Amino acid sequence: MDDARHTHDADCDGSWVEREALARAAGTPLPRRGGRRPEADLPEEDEVRAAVRTLIRWTGDNPDREGLVDTPDRVMRSYREMYAGYDVDPREYLERTFEEVGGYDELIVLKDIRFVSVCEHHMLPVIGKAHVAYLPTDRVVGISKLARVVRGYARRLQIQEKMTSEIAKAIQEVLQPQGVGVVIEAEHSCMTLRGVNAPGTSLTTSHLIGVIRDDGRTREEFLRLVRG
Ligand SMILES: [Zn+2]
Repeated sequence: MDDARHTHDADCDGSWVEREALARAAGTPLPRRGGRRPEADLPEEDEVRAAVRTLIRWTGDNPDREGLVDTPDRVMRSYREMYAGYDVDPREYLERTFEEVGGYDELIVLKDIRFVSVCEHHMLPVIGKAHVAYLPTDRVVGISKLARVVRGYARRLQIQEKMTSEIAKAIQEVLQPQGVGVVIEAEHSCMTLRGVNAPGTSLTTSHLIGVIRDDGRTREEFLRLVRG
């Protein structure tokens, strides 16, 4: 399993709230909430097509043959979809909440949220499912929103560990529940298609916050619901 773990730098993993607070304190512009870099820094479409042609040549094939002429355009369009997470701030999905919870104070668990992401080390697909839970305080969020949060963070260049904690922290910061639990199981194409060629292996990561981390009974219940 060690081979499956991606190493990564301790990069800008701080929350938006922390980053905004730092920016305010320093008097610098607030960080952009969507993941996308400034518009001016995006390449022209022609540059993107040329880059895809270069990669086709690198395979040994001929980008001018009939079956491949339109491929750069298709790749460009599919990138828009696969990387649509850069256009959104998934935290915004959580801002509309319902406060009439009728005294409900048990775990809310959404299991088996299927997602496709892309590993940032090899740009190969990571396909898996996320289980997301929280223990509400006084408000809940529409369940489809939890799936949207997963998708928003998945559709970027990612590493699974970071994605797991980004989802958990977003829920914690916006909903401020008593606890959050996120477990992700995924298969990494960079392991199953190439490299160590280990089909069928999957990587499991988790990020637990608040009572789901600290209270043994709640943690057990969460893990039982996720495994069950
Ligand atoms: Zn990889």
